Amino acid sequence: MAIIFYNTLTREKDQFCALDDMKAGLYTCGPTVYDYAHIGNWRTYIFEDILRRQLEYRGYKVCHIMNITDVDDKTIRGALAKGIALDDYTEPFIKAFFKDRDSLNVEAANVYPRATRHIEDMVIIIKGLMKKRIAYRTEDGSIYYDISKFLGYGKLSHFRIDELKAGARVRSDEYEKAQVSDFALWKAWDEADGNVYWDTELGRGRPGWHIECSAMSSKYLGQTFDIHTGGVDNIFPHHENEIAQSEGLSGKKFVNYWMHSEHLLVDGRKMSKSLGNFYTLRDVISKGYSPMVFRYLVLGAHYRSKLNFTWAGMDAAKAALDNLYEFMGRLDKENSTGLDSAVERASAAFEQAMDDDLNTPVALAAVFGLVKEVNVSGHGGREVYQAMQKFDGVLGLKLAENAKSAALEVPAEIEQLLEERQKARKAKDFATADRVRDEIAAAGYIIEDTPAGPKLKRKNT
Ligand code: AMP
Ligand code: ZN
Repeated sequence: MAIIFYNTLTREKDQFCALDDMKAGLYTCGPTVYDYAHIGNWRTYIFEDILRRQLEYRGYKVCHIMNITDVDDKTIRGALAKGIALDDYTEPFIKAFFKDRDSLNVEAANVYPRATRHIEDMVIIIKGLMKKRIAYRTEDGSIYYDISKFLGYGKLSHFRIDELKAGARVRSDEYEKAQVSDFALWKAWDEADGNVYWDTELGRGRPGWHIECSAMSSKYLGQTFDIHTGGVDNIFPHHENEIAQSEGLSGKKFVNYWMHSEHLLVDGRKMSKSLGNFYTLRDVISKGYSPMVFRYLVLGAHYRSKLNFTWAGMDAAKAALDNLYEFMGRLDKENSTGLDSAVERASAAFEQAMDDDLNTPVALAAVFGLVKEVNVSGHGGREVYQAMQKFDGVLGLKLAENAKSAALEVPAEIEQLLEERQKARKAKDFATADRVRDEIAAAGYIIEDTPAGPKLKRKNT
């Protein structure tokens, strides 16, 4: 029952082995709260949720930390443009993030540390790096990381530093690989930062983005921990720099498994704020889709494949998810129907897929395999319902909550036919009553005569 994960660090599928028996430490880079998260961001957070749920399914106690980047170049720019305090600027985006998280049935992390509340922890690391002469101060009082002092620089992004032309120093939080260079740990205050600064032992200023995650991850998970994740765009420079900072200071391995999800695309390009080609969850909901449909769309692709977002794709996801909800509604929760072997086969296929680097499309195919088998047999019972619930513990599609009662889905014309049949029966016109019953059956419904009167059910097809 080994779980296997593709590890960006080794570029292999590695068997997962936690540092501390059945406890797993998981750090996920959280939102930069300068705006509402878009659904591309949510693709990554849903992948991380699936990862966590699968670890829990396999019995791990997961300690999940997701930071909130509430100070960086973009948040400061936003707050200054509005002329309000940084905390006031970021607050609505933090609130919206938690609301979306709940709508998407993403489990809450154990801690959501905020960068602005951990400045002292960052200062301690930067001081340590200066003491080791890995970091140096520039004329303006800023402090930079000297990448030539860290031999492993490039090991996550898989480049060799000596093969690249080292660029000048970079002050900005985000930059491209072509600009490999010393990066800012501490940015001395200048006018562009307005009223955003901290007076610390390092002087007046604010942290660079990368040091935030080194500080908050080690604070809550220790200097070495199990899994660190993000989207592929985080590999360079963010995660590369986190490794340099953390390992440069501790001399120990920072993280054993690095996992990255591929992007959500629109028309073949990364969904992003800067390209203006993004949708928020609010956009999805206002088009009439439940957030669960988006979650299903995400699970339909492997997390390491690019996924092109289209409304047609959302419609297909909605149809498939409705099938599952209807299926759940048709199951008999009380009684067994002797389908244990079908359930066992589906469970084995589901588990094998999820253990193999979280292969959600194959796991969903296993679920639909069971649906098909049950539909052929005509009626699924308790054992099928329980298996579906177990699968949903990992998938998080709220199958039980949304189970559709077939009786409630009856179209008006069928209700009318049922009334006709009742009238015919009262009048002892059994030929008509039977004909109408057949008509109802042809439309996919069966009549159950109960002491409380006739009830319609969807036929298992
Ligand atoms: P940010 O708020 O920009 O720091 O991004 C938050 C997370 O979303 C990071 O892990 C990014 O890698 C990820 N991300 C950004 N854009 C996309 C996208 N189009 N598809 C998937 N993940 C993304
Ligand atoms: Zn981070």
